[in-house]
Amino acid sequence: ETILVQELANRMAERVADVVKSLMKMGVMATMNQSIDADTAELVIEEFGHKVVRVSDADVEQVIDMIEDAPESLRSRPPIITIMGHVDHGKTSLLDAIRKTSVVSGEAGGITQHIGAYQVTTDTGAVLSFLDTPGHAAFTSMRARGANVTDIVVLVVSAEDAVMPQTIEAINHAKAAKVPMIVAINKIDRPDANPQKVRTDLLQHEVVVEAMSGDVQDVEVSALTGQGLDQLLEAIALQAEILELKANPDRSAMGAVIEAKLDVGRGPVATVLVQNGTLRKGDIFVVGEQWGKVRALINDKGERVDEAGPSVPVEVLGLNGTPEAGDVLNVVDTEAQAREIADYRLQASKDKRAAAGAATTLEQLMAKAKDDQNVAELPIVLKADVQGSAEAIVQAMEKIGNDEVRVRVLHYGVGAITESDIGLAEASGAPVFGFNVRANAPARNSANQKGVEIRYYSVIYDLVDDVKAAASGLLSNEI
Ligand code: GDP
Repeated sequence: ETILVQELANRMAERVADVVKSLMKMGVMATMNQSIDADTAELVIEEFGHKVVRVSDADVEQVIDMIEDAPESLRSRPPIITIMGHVDHGKTSLLDAIRKTSVVSGEAGGITQHIGAYQVTTDTGAVLSFLDTPGHAAFTSMRARGANVTDIVVLVVSAEDAVMPQTIEAINHAKAAKVPMIVAINKIDRPDANPQKVRTDLLQHEVVVEAMSGDVQDVEVSALTGQGLDQLLEAIALQAEILELKANPDRSAMGAVIEAKLDVGRGPVATVLVQNGTLRKGDIFVVGEQWGKVRALINDKGERVDEAGPSVPVEVLGLNGTPEAGDVLNVVDTEAQAREIADYRLQASKDKRAAAGAATTLEQLMAKAKDDQNVAELPIVLKADVQGSAEAIVQAMEKIGNDEVRVRVLHYGVGAITESDIGLAEASGAPVFGFNVRANAPARNSANQKGVEIRYYSVIYDLVDDVKAAASGLLSNEI
């Protein structure tokens, strides 16, 4: 049993390029015109959050729950927001302040529990779901596992310090994920606050806020005094309206794990953010390499609920093991199916780990990029010892492009290659270039585990030449 990559993409209603990328992540190099076996197809289908039903053990056949949601079945759903920004700029304070607004407004039934995400209702009645883990590390590692849960990024920038290194990282992580941003200029209560500097600093990173005639909303806030919080929530609600976020509440649920732990009293507990459908008590599900039957659902107010619809975060009890953040949950019909898929994935991930030594090469990355529609785009992450070199390399990279091939620098900066760089590279299928800098130990380990390629250079010409060679090799390959 095999299926064409193109056909698989069509049946899932996903972009071919995304399917090819997903295959790359599993270590399978296939173009749209090649066939893959049923087992691999099943993994891809799960990866995209579609449902696979195995009809029998021997004849592994996929019946994708593709009953594509009819337009009339779609309802608007709340946006899911992640807060990012430099350390100490007020991410945690802002999350707490927003959480409190909802308690003050009396909407919350009790004290809000920390389950990994919470919902608030704005004065105008819009419901917003906030992820409780701020920062781009969590955001990008979820994305690397295939869970794109964030709809909107709120970039917190302190009006005292303006743009700092992690602000830039956050901008680039959000851009790489193509998630729209809203800028919250925080600590506006401070006497030395200079919000205008934040706006002009951001210009240098191609974030043009509305106050500078751009299209990125910016709001001055104080997490300390609560000033501007209502405006920030309204800005988010407005952005959400523009995005027209929709889901079908009347189908079996699929969602993403945002937190999971082994609780002494309750056993394995996972907080799941429902992305489509409605999750109910008694549902049988598979989640990553684990499966279970929903014994109880607990919302962000600590209340037991019978069901959770799109964009609602709930704690799920009844798992047979602890999944990982970023794992996708799918409701299936029978325990046998759930167990079978979980076992299958366990085996697949063992196989994958065994094959992890084989890192992708620059050439493979270029070849993969070629499959993306017309213009092949090679994403790269660059770290250098000094700003001048970094900029010189970025300029040279930009010149390599022509009509068919383009190099896209996702992020560049000064200093050692860090885990954050590896995370971004993994999520985007990019290699990391170090110019006169090395990767630190955690980054090296992480790169080994994830199969991210790191290349070191000390001569700009060599670096540019390697990328050029890969690019031209790619061009000459096609007639
Ligand atoms: P995070 O590292 O981005 O999560 O930042 P925190 O939320 O931990 O805040 C860092 C520090 O800034 C803490 O001491 C906060 O009390 C303080 N802080 C955060 N927001 C504000 C604000 O709006 N005004 C003032 N004056 N201080 C703030």
